[in-house]
Amino acid sequence: MQREALLSGTVHPGGREPAPGRLALVQSFVNTVDREHGPDLFDEAAGLRDWLGARGLLEPGATVGDAELEAARELREALRTLLLANNGEPHDQGAQAVLERACRRARLEAAFPADGAALVPRSEGVDAALGRILAAAFAAMLDGSWKRLKACPREVCGWAFYDRSTNGSATWCSMRVCGGRVKAGAYYRRRRAAGH
Ligand SMILES: [Zn+2]
Repeated sequence: MQREALLSGTVHPGGREPAPGRLALVQSFVNTVDREHGPDLFDEAAGLRDWLGARGLLEPGATVGDAELEAARELREALRTLLLANNGEPHDQGAQAVLERACRRARLEAAFPADGAALVPRSEGVDAALGRILAAAFAAMLDGSWKRLKACPREVCGWAFYDRSTNGSATWCSMRVCGGRVKAGAYYRRRRAAGH
């Protein structure tokens, strides 16, 4: 996949629509890596800086250190783990703890402006930027849309997609890309086991 495609967050396999509202921010944060073919935007600090900058989450010229890059990678994978739980995997307390630690670093505080209550980061830089992503996830968990943001269970994929099916039963990011391959693999193994 092209770096620019990951940076823009416009890649949606299977012709799916992106997640609604601010939840799309969480989705595109998780989708900053093509795990099967590369690249990973967060392989270097510049990638994280560019991604945050493109979304107005980091002021131009801000520096991103190694510890901040590591924190972003850790949060991204913890979110992916929770999105796998939305797809039938068990809840993961380690991932939950990563989110809670990142919230403390961001110093998220409740605010009650006229246009609606929100969690607002009181820290600065990358910690605050990650705080805005966490605040979007938190709001989605309260409004129920979170459950439909899922990670594709094909091991090498893990792509985050928003499930708009009527009964919320979608499993794969794309039936053609991942569902088809997994099913074809299972079919092949069954045939071999049966001696065909
Ligand atoms: Zn997939």
